[in-house]
Amino acid sequence: DNTLHIIGGGMAGSEAAWQAANAGVQVVIHEMRPKVETFAHRTGNLAEMVCSNSFRSDDDEQNAVGLLHWEMRAANGLIMGMADRHRLPAGGALAVDRDPFSESVTQALMDHPNVRVEYGEITELPTTGHWIIATGPLTSDKLGAAIQRETGSERLAFFDAIAPIVYADSIDMSVAWEQSRYDKGETEAERKAYINCPMTKPQYEAFIDAVLASDKTEFHEGETAGYFDGCLPIEVMAERGRETLRHGPMKPVGLTNANDPANKPYAVVQLRRDNALGTLYNIVGFQTKMKYGPQSSVFRMIPGLENANFARLGGIHRNTFLNSPTLLDDQMRLRSRPNIRFAGQVTGVEGYVESAAMGLLAGRLAAAEILGKPLQTAPQDTAMGALIHHITGGAEAKTFQPMNVNFGLFRPLDGLRGGRKGRKDRYKGYTDRAKEAFSQWLESQS
Ligand code: FAD
Repeated sequence: DNTLHIIGGGMAGSEAAWQAANAGVQVVIHEMRPKVETFAHRTGNLAEMVCSNSFRSDDDEQNAVGLLHWEMRAANGLIMGMADRHRLPAGGALAVDRDPFSESVTQALMDHPNVRVEYGEITELPTTGHWIIATGPLTSDKLGAAIQRETGSERLAFFDAIAPIVYADSIDMSVAWEQSRYDKGETEAERKAYINCPMTKPQYEAFIDAVLASDKTEFHEGETAGYFDGCLPIEVMAERGRETLRHGPMKPVGLTNANDPANKPYAVVQLRRDNALGTLYNIVGFQTKMKYGPQSSVFRMIPGLENANFARLGGIHRNTFLNSPTLLDDQMRLRSRPNIRFAGQVTGVEGYVESAAMGLLAGRLAAAEILGKPLQTAPQDTAMGALIHHITGGAEAKTFQPMNVNFGLFRPLDGLRGGRKGRKDRYKGYTDRAKEAFSQWLESQS
């Protein structure tokens, strides 16, 4: 049977269905709403936007998410097409009139001769046929349990606990230094795997005050506030005692400040390499519910991070996602059951646009396979390709957490840290290179 079955008609599932149906494949979308609800969705529409109504920046020359918009438009994306049709004025951002948007996505799929929608929850992993699982951050409990039985429980998470991620080239290395605690590691690279930022006692005290005073986001209704071990938000640790962080993620032991060996730091903030390219570093143990505004100013109090640029800020959310670097191949297939692909936020990307983009890719890859015309995954120099390469290979599997698209995922243009070019030129260079590679990839399919 050459039908493509898609579980979940959200951002990713809707886009995957559209792409595969347009390629000539028969598609069935299995959507559990409105029969079975989630805590965040309100309607029975496909592609419902559960929270903000923004697709973020629409700048396709200076912004990675804007570039993703461009790529999805070029690929006749349904989600972008309907977002453009129902666009609200919002400066450089793409804001969307949410109800007409999801109604028109639903209508377009209902009207498509190759698409059928079946309402009802899928609770088991399918054993035969072609499938895409795109059940999102709020994958139903039963299906989540079935996925865990297949992958092992440690490879499907139900929460993310994201520490802020910093662009390596924005860290002041005249203040910070590279060293692993106790110089551990077999190789020189391992002994220098971390970047360390030193703090004096007054700096530490001021930092704790700022963390305690900052605005925090509440957990959404339906999200358990039960934090799991080892993933306490830093503000919760700080509330437990002013010294807790200094004995936890900020402990200064086993480290010598190469920039100032005579002065032992009172506390140290460590950053760990987050991708194979070495362009991104996460702040170790710094998951947080601080609001985005205060987060950047509080983290820029850290010596060495005064001018830090953040590829993403920290957060903790209810979020079902796979350890994709170990589980998926670059065709988005489950290695242990290649008749099943995953798409959308459950693969470990984050956001409406990224999820829809992963749906677009999965839909095209699945359709190509069914039609016997195998397709290479999107090229690494495109935004879509940078994301898929990150989640299926480039990211550190051990510490894998969901990712937004950002230029830190792109192969540098010249030299590891982007060469001597100014940031504007560099971003324009990335987007020009991406558009050309994406157009060629599309052409290879026509
Ligand atoms: P979804 O859009 O969630 O679609 C998954 C679909 O699968 C749903 O329709 C669901 O009903 C269905 N489903 C689940 N289990 C089953 C099953 N077993 N059988 C059949 N159907 C099933 N992103 C942003 O960009 N901006 C935001 O402001 C934002 N706020 C968020 C707030 C909350 C509370 C949550 C939970 C997420 C938020 N996100 C936000 C993330 C956003 O939801 C996702 O990026 C995006 O919707 C993911 O698309 P998706 O297609 O992967 O999943």
